[in-house]
Amino acid sequence: MLLQDMTMKEFKGYLRRTKTLIVPYGSIEAHGVHLPLATDTMIIWEVVRRVAKRVRVFVAPPIYYGVCTSTGNHPGTIGITPETLRRLTMDIVRDGFRKGLRNFILVSGHGGGLHTYAIKEAGERLVEEIDGIQVASLAIYEILPGKARDIAETENDSHAGELETSCILHIEPGLVKGRAKEEYPALPKPIIVRDKERYWKGAVWGNPEKADPGKGAELLDIMVDSLAGLVRKIEGL
Ligand SMILES: [Zn+2]
Repeated sequence: MLLQDMTMKEFKGYLRRTKTLIVPYGSIEAHGVHLPLATDTMIIWEVVRRVAKRVRVFVAPPIYYGVCTSTGNHPGTIGITPETLRRLTMDIVRDGFRKGLRNFILVSGHGGGLHTYAIKEAGERLVEEIDGIQVASLAIYEILPGKARDIAETENDSHAGELETSCILHIEPGLVKGRAKEEYPALPKPIIVRDKERYWKGAVWGNPEKADPGKGAELLDIMVDSLAGLVRKIEGL
């Protein structure tokens, strides 16, 4: 059930049926000229709402802001620091535990490195700190089976490309404004540059032209299956 829609009485009653909370994370981040800034949030929010229909679980409201490095300078990206994300995560989980929740699935639709590490670090600390807690920290893409990769025709699809564009075409087609050009970042990794937008102009990593809503539907189904499986797994431990 969606936490934000429940009353205190419903919360108490449902707690007798499950002690698992999913916390979805996204970002407000440039996703090419064609996708909304909240693309990552929209995708994960859709996934967790579907999971909540499939298995007994509490679903927290999405955390819209995330840590964005490569797209940090692009128009519209509004990021937060890893420290803020870690502290926010720890506060939410600690208070959830105080209210009787025991299993926490911290799942992100934004796969950025520092972003995901901040959530994982929070998970490690919480498990050290709180006896009797179980935490899973992940980007949703980490638990998808190989067949999810096969949906994309593009070899190296990662950001605002074939798959994310397909998902938004499926979820909310009216928010897809044409198609950005195929692009891959030319960041001189592992050197960290300040003017990242010079090396990655369009904020696209992949080929949006290959997107279609059917691929989005297929990928979302796989995400829902995988996350519902994780709910069962954490509850079975
Ligand atoms: Zn994204």
